[in-house]
Amino acid sequence: MDKALAQKVIDRLSSAQSPALFTHLRPDGDAFGSLLGLAHALQDRGQTPSLHVEGGMIPMYRFLPGNELVQDIPDQLSEKADVFVVLDTSTRERVGKKTATWKQPVDLVIDHHVSNPGFGILNLIVPEIPATAGVLFRLFEMAGWKISPATATCLYAGLSTDTGSFRYRGTDAATLRIAASLVELGADPSEIAKHCYLSVTPERYQLKKLTVETLSIKDNKKSGFLTILPDFYNKSGAKSEDTEGIIEEVTSIQGLEVASLFEFGSGGSLRVSLRSKGKVDVNAIASTFGGGGHRAAAGIRFAKDGEKNRDLVLSAISKAISALND
Ligand code: 5GP
Ligand code: MN
Repeated sequence: MDKALAQKVIDRLSSAQSPALFTHLRPDGDAFGSLLGLAHALQDRGQTPSLHVEGGMIPMYRFLPGNELVQDIPDQLSEKADVFVVLDTSTRERVGKKTATWKQPVDLVIDHHVSNPGFGILNLIVPEIPATAGVLFRLFEMAGWKISPATATCLYAGLSTDTGSFRYRGTDAATLRIAASLVELGADPSEIAKHCYLSVTPERYQLKKLTVETLSIKDNKKSGFLTILPDFYNKSGAKSEDTEGIIEEVTSIQGLEVASLFEFGSGGSLRVSLRSKGKVDVNAIASTFGGGGHRAAAGIRFAKDGEKNRDLVLSAISKAISALND
């Protein structure tokens, strides 16, 4: 982490009374963990942050302390907001539609996505730390800010979920040291795992069941993809956030290099999730279609022509896999 840059970020955060904190649409554990972890740290310093995410809080992460602070995105940035902060978000668009027309520039971007272009005035992007929550931990440590049990719980949840419960490639000794520190500071790994991994609603389970049924294996058993059709939501009663984690079912298949998930919206839109076991750079594939993410996990969104774009992405995957044999 660039110390001089981190210090500038600390100074900028410290200079504000009412920081406005945002994260990405379709928020995950790192999005909420980072948002709430930073909020607790700022509150402990007497600051009054506001917390925003498209659609507001989602049920799965309601166990996180402070979750009642999370609001939907307002029509305009509050006049009280004296620093505009975006966490864990790889592009300006991923903050959400509503904010696209705001004239205020993003003051601070704190993230770990290698594909992040740096759309803020100050950009602390640390790809070597596998979760934004981990970047925040290092930042608080450097600043000498208090890390309460509530802060530690939120940051641990972010670090745990973005590393696939410490299973993904980005997990190294430094990651586990951050996790250990967070546990010493009051995070309860078993309790957090219970909420993040060991508790699914019947609706989520039903959506997973429908989706897993669509599995198609190709490229000489080196790639596999799942499909979610618009009516799966009616059939299961699940919500869009319930897709999180389904793709991991495919990545666990032996011999597979790339897993993908294609979620068709009504009206022809398409959301793509890509996962690699390590040899194929799926961020490179996503980038050619205007998406992004990390080497081992990336995504793309298409506003229209879903089927055609699915075929193009599948071809790009086939090409990347055949290049492995060359
Ligand atoms: P997921 O498949 O879990 O939605 O996303 C995997 C990774 O890719 C995440 O790190 C996420 O930030 C990134 N990602 C997903 N969708 C998009 C997208 O449409 N654009 C960009 N730039 N990144 C994305
Ligand atoms: Mn993240």
